[in-house]
Amino acid sequence: MQWEVVIGLETHAQLATCSKIFSGSSTQFGAEPNTQASPVDLALPGVLPVMNREAVQCAIKFGLAIGATVAPESVFARKNYFYPDLPKGYQISQYEIPVVQGGSLDIVWEQPGKNGPEQRSKTIHLTRAHLEEDAGKSLHEDFQGKSGIDLNRAGTPLLEIVTEPEMRSAKEAVAYAKALHGLVTWLGICDGNMQEGSFRCDANVSVRPVGQQEFGTRCEIKNLNSFRFMERAIDFEVRRQIELIEDGGTVVQETRLYDPDKDETRSMRSKEDAQDYRYFPDPDLPALVIDADWIDATRAQMPELPATLARRWQAEFGLSAYDATALTASRDLADYFSAVLAALPDAARQAKTAANWVMVDLSAAANREDLAIAQAPVSATQLALLVARISDGTISGKIGKDIFATIWSSKDARADAVDRLIDEKGLKQITDTGALEAIVQQVLAANPKSVEEFKAGKDKALNALVGQVMKATQGKANPQVINELLRKAAS
Ligand code: ADP
Ligand code: MG
Repeated sequence: MQWEVVIGLETHAQLATCSKIFSGSSTQFGAEPNTQASPVDLALPGVLPVMNREAVQCAIKFGLAIGATVAPESVFARKNYFYPDLPKGYQISQYEIPVVQGGSLDIVWEQPGKNGPEQRSKTIHLTRAHLEEDAGKSLHEDFQGKSGIDLNRAGTPLLEIVTEPEMRSAKEAVAYAKALHGLVTWLGICDGNMQEGSFRCDANVSVRPVGQQEFGTRCEIKNLNSFRFMERAIDFEVRRQIELIEDGGTVVQETRLYDPDKDETRSMRSKEDAQDYRYFPDPDLPALVIDADWIDATRAQMPELPATLARRWQAEFGLSAYDATALTASRDLADYFSAVLAALPDAARQAKTAANWVMVDLSAAANREDLAIAQAPVSATQLALLVARISDGTISGKIGKDIFATIWSSKDARADAVDRLIDEKGLKQITDTGALEAIVQQVLAANPKSVEEFKAGKDKALNALVGQVMKATQGKANPQVINELLRKAAS
């Protein structure tokens, strides 16, 4: 039997406001427990919630960015349940009429194909996004036989963003989560810190036989706080459901948790235990009214969106959708690449090479040292000069990597550091055929076996010979010239 995977994601993005959604206390992370909990957050009798305008502003920005309808009037509702970290006995959320309705997000991802990785793209439709407050935290670790309650997080503004069940693999789900993460951080409405829980996803996963119209029964995997865990958790859950059904069992609707140490999902609670939250409109809060002026004023302040910038780079510089999306994954990275483009002498021709340098070499080096791109010791101007010197043939790609590593570790900030290194260390590529010919002859004489293999039709043997010439010239020989010389000499 062939199975199709169906995934819908619910994401909680913590909004980057200074104060809470219905009180004036600070939202700063990491303070001493209960030092940022006002009478409203503590649910003392007689207090009243007051809507934080900035949180609404964030929701409007998000709605505009995904092309959604921003509801002129939406309603706050009480979601009733008991939990020690929820002193009111209900969470203020939005239910029947959310502030953001519809909208969509384009995703791009890579998956294995017949001839290597294939790039795919798709539009994911959003159902809604609504404003709500976060609960407090129960602390179990610091107390023996007891739990502590920290209400610093109680009342922190969240935007819960819900998709239609349109994703068909773990890779698509991760591509969506990354695109969403990129967008909310780009807009500045969420700091995106997944370790601190500022951006957390629940994945709803089901399977159905290919061709079947109805959806299968779904399970919800809660609180995935890394993209890697999300991919693994979904892959595990898909395998579990398929094996279960193929063994004659049925999937029961339930909430599951992913355990990264064991790489498996485990049941947390079944749908039978699901509570009736008795939602009803909160009588303490009037309807949330957003007039056209407010929306227009917000629209006027919107930055160019990552998707728009990515499309522009595709059109102007011939970048692939995948590369352009990767380069606009964060504001930091996009700003860096913009600066590289601006400094390239022939951006139209060199952009693709520059993109590779930024996505591969620069990102890897920054990752290795846990540095933000903006703090990279190789500046955008320096990288542009490096790319220019490779593309005009002054240096080989191999020497380019060495120069990059040298500047990275020396932190030489001079704009012309690349040219200085080339001069000081004599790194210019040898393209002079005469100079190379002698070396080629030596290499041929010293490697009779490779020469024989090449003559017998093994192209790989030629690579070995090119490698030898490269070694003899400390990487300074022009690989194309060597290739030609070797072919001529050995045939
Ligand atoms: P609930 O009211 O239980 O939260 P929703 O209808 O709001 O359920 O759906 C929650 C999420 O689950 C949405 O992202 C939706 O796309 C997704 N979803 C719904 N049905 C399925 C299914 N059969 N398989 C996978 N995902 C689903
Ligand atoms: Mg829901």
